[in-house]
Amino acid sequence: MKTELLMPAGNLEKLKYSLMYGADAVYIGGKVLSLRAQASNFTLEDIKEGVEFAHKLNKKVYITVNVIPRESEKDLIKDYLESLEKIGVDGIIVSSPAILYMARTYTKIHVSISTQASVTNLSAIKFYASLGANRVVLARELSIDEIKYIKENTDTEIEVFIHGGMCSGFSGRCTLSNYMSRRDANGGGCAHSCRWSYDIYEDDKKINTETFKIGSKDLCAISYIKDMIDAGVDSLKVEGRMKSISYVSTIAYTYRTLIDDVYNNSVKDNEYYLNLMGEQVNRSASDGFLSGHISNEQTLYAKESSEATQAFYGIVLDYDKDKRCVLVEVRNFFKVGEKVEILSPGKPIRVSTIEYIINSDGVMVNEATHALEKVTINSNIELNKHDIIRRLK
Ligand code: SF4
Repeated sequence: MKTELLMPAGNLEKLKYSLMYGADAVYIGGKVLSLRAQASNFTLEDIKEGVEFAHKLNKKVYITVNVIPRESEKDLIKDYLESLEKIGVDGIIVSSPAILYMARTYTKIHVSISTQASVTNLSAIKFYASLGANRVVLARELSIDEIKYIKENTDTEIEVFIHGGMCSGFSGRCTLSNYMSRRDANGGGCAHSCRWSYDIYEDDKKINTETFKIGSKDLCAISYIKDMIDAGVDSLKVEGRMKSISYVSTIAYTYRTLIDDVYNNSVKDNEYYLNLMGEQVNRSASDGFLSGHISNEQTLYAKESSEATQAFYGIVLDYDKDKRCVLVEVRNFFKVGEKVEILSPGKPIRVSTIEYIINSDGVMVNEATHALEKVTINSNIELNKHDIIRRLK
């Protein structure tokens, strides 16, 4: 079986973009019983629509059901699991033994053990498999050698994080966010307080000269994808259900290209794939724990780690072949004279120059300034609905 590319999706639109841009599967959270409290979670109707969309493309949808349930929630969970099975979801992701037990008791649904369970060894995998788990999402703190060893010695499906935020506290085993902002990290509300800027005080005296951060750099495992595929890892997972359409599309597009290149024996150097990611990858991202050599190189300290949202100029709504122009929904400021990149599913990145902009009142303007306004721009390149226009780096 070809290794799966698994992308996050915070809503139906992101689900569709992730799949169109190359994901084999997406994971989403239901409105109830999911940790990602603020990640625009899906209703059962949304889940049904998402599953139908994915299955038409021969792709999959997994649902996170990773609450830590109370006794009073038993009936709700049973009903929910049965509804998910009826809808035809491809699997659920759980962290609580209670939900694993209930999924095995009441359904035949595919169950993945969440990274929240911090599985770092074969014994833990055997334990969860003995209880009926089909897949284990490994803890992000493992090296590539540990991942290879685990995969060589188990038939249980293995999922590995390859891209996105890292946590300094073993996936949420940290109360910094709870303490600093009353947002529960293990309840899905982490405020990433480890990435804030801090000073050190000895008694009342500040003793540092520059502020610093204590979080981890983002993960970018481009260098290890071939090793993971060769090792037989079943699923490569990207973090970030709160991320934008442009982020999920770009990251899906890049890893789709890389995974296909591995299978076609045509892998290029890392710089090639970093360029495909454009400004969506932070150049200070690291390979996390994969190298097995952990140092302050994996720590954020003074460096920023954020999504480059301004590089996302717009989404193509329609293309007029005769007039050689394109209708664009604006997402960020751009102007006449700029060179832009066009990202299209399954095609190489193309470059175009903006020669004119006609605003929604039909007036020729020099700049597109209003988010969500529909403007018309020139394009000699034939574009399609859902193509993405972004800043040329
Ligand atoms: S504050 Fe940082 S270390 Fe703590 S749970 Fe959140 S991401 Fe992890």
